[in-house]
Amino acid sequence: MRHIEEAVRSTPVMHETDVLVVGGGPGGLAAALAASRAGARSTLVDRYGCFGGVITQVGVDTLAWYRHEKTVEAGGIGLEFERRATEMGAATPDVQSDSHALDSELFKVVADTLVREAGVTPLLHCLVTEPIVEDGRIRGVVTESKSGRRAILAGRVVDATGDADVAFRAGAPCHTEPPSSGMGVTVMFSCSGVDKARFLDHVAESAPTYGDWGRCWSVRTDGKEDGLFSPYLQEPFDRARADGVIPADIRSIGGTWGRVTDAGEATTLNLVVMSGYDCLDVRDLTEAEIEGRRQALLAIEALRRYMPGFEDARLRTFGATLGTRDSRKIVGRYELTGDDVRGEARFEDTVGIFPEFLDGYGILVLPTTGRYFQIPYRALVPREVENLLVAGRCVAGDRISHTATRNQMCCAVTGQAAGAAAAVSLRLGRGTSETDVAQVQDELRRQGVRLD
Ligand SMILES: Cc1cc2nc3c(=O)[nH]c(=O)nc-3n(C[C@H](O)[C@H](O)[C@H](O)COP(=O)(O)OP(=O)(O)OC[C@H]3O[C@@H](n4cnc5c(N)ncnc54)[C@H](O)[C@@H]3O)c2cc1C
Repeated sequence: MRHIEEAVRSTPVMHETDVLVVGGGPGGLAAALAASRAGARSTLVDRYGCFGGVITQVGVDTLAWYRHEKTVEAGGIGLEFERRATEMGAATPDVQSDSHALDSELFKVVADTLVREAGVTPLLHCLVTEPIVEDGRIRGVVTESKSGRRAILAGRVVDATGDADVAFRAGAPCHTEPPSSGMGVTVMFSCSGVDKARFLDHVAESAPTYGDWGRCWSVRTDGKEDGLFSPYLQEPFDRARADGVIPADIRSIGGTWGRVTDAGEATTLNLVVMSGYDCLDVRDLTEAEIEGRRQALLAIEALRRYMPGFEDARLRTFGATLGTRDSRKIVGRYELTGDDVRGEARFEDTVGIFPEFLDGYGILVLPTTGRYFQIPYRALVPREVENLLVAGRCVAGDRISHTATRNQMCCAVTGQAAGAAAAVSLRLGRGTSETDVAQVQDELRRQGVRLD
């Protein structure tokens, strides 16, 4: 690749804060709220025009679709997302679980409200481009926005970008799932004009289950999941392929739906899952957006022809951005493993729990048993860079543990832990890698988080 030399320049400092959280998805939102509630001045920055990350920017309603009668929950800010959304008319009972599905558009306002109430300083439309690192300690970040190139200085930084952008650019060791073996990417979409009663009657008649997932995706379960209801759609796409409505070589169409409203809107149409794209390559992201939109329209045509209730359906929205399920993760002070998730791991430095819920890489395990694992603080702590923590799907761990930690509720657990830990480490005047974890645990308990 050719290179050019850039001129050395002096960058204005736009803002100074105690805890800077980069990325406002479920991980970053929880981190900023937790830091603020722990007494720190916190600032939450996102490159797009709303907080919520995949929930609001991709359009994923299904925050806690795993929850069943015996599921043990972490408590804390993830549950608060669901409760506040319900109170604000931004959630309705989920079709497949004991949870509420979000209205991903209105959740933007829920997030704004939580941020304002907690006294977090919000910054939208602000892309973080480079960390500022001195003597192995992060001091802040450089941003680009309509205001120009500006620095933000901070006592502690939480990287909740999903892709570990800050940690990677700061020099912390990371690893990346190759596109050939990674989870697929999705252009999420929604439809209007759906005849809700007719559609739901058909769903009740055909009674799809998680066991049916194997018809489209290669999925291993524990067996106990197979007979449970799943809002899964496959038949219209098989028929469309047989009739040439969808080209036979496109195998990436099929999947699940989230909610159908009384106004005839079907949301979280998770029906295009495409493999082989590198989510850290801008050209691949571009290709995937364009191909995903093309395939979404093919899926809608198939629904209109072959799915009762969708005869008059039309495209309502595409997600504002492509959905990435996996990319870069930090190498942490502890690497969470699939055995930890499946073996109910317990850790001295626990900063939260998550039920035994795995979804991805060909595995689906639902937490119907009451089993859960603890998340160690060390999985949030990168190597080699001090005063930086990560939250959300880029926390340290192997492929199988990622199928648990990537879920929105688990991102809220690691986010709340990172935000509280950043505030405590600042208060104690001790770096994030050597902070007093017992005091972080005290703060998290005070915030209503279940640790053991
Ligand atoms: C299509 C799809 C369907 C899914 N379905 C479900 C589901 O049903 N249930 C579930 O629990 N999970 C689901 N997931 C997984 C889950 O939504 C994500 O793993 C989770 O949202 C990750 O949270 P996060 O906070 O780590 O990152 P994200 O939600 O990705 O948020 C990251 C935020 O950082 C911002 N950002 C990134 N880089 C920068 C930068 N350089 N500067 C400033 N801002 C930046 C982004 O704009 C974004 O707001 C799904 C994921 C996808 C893609």
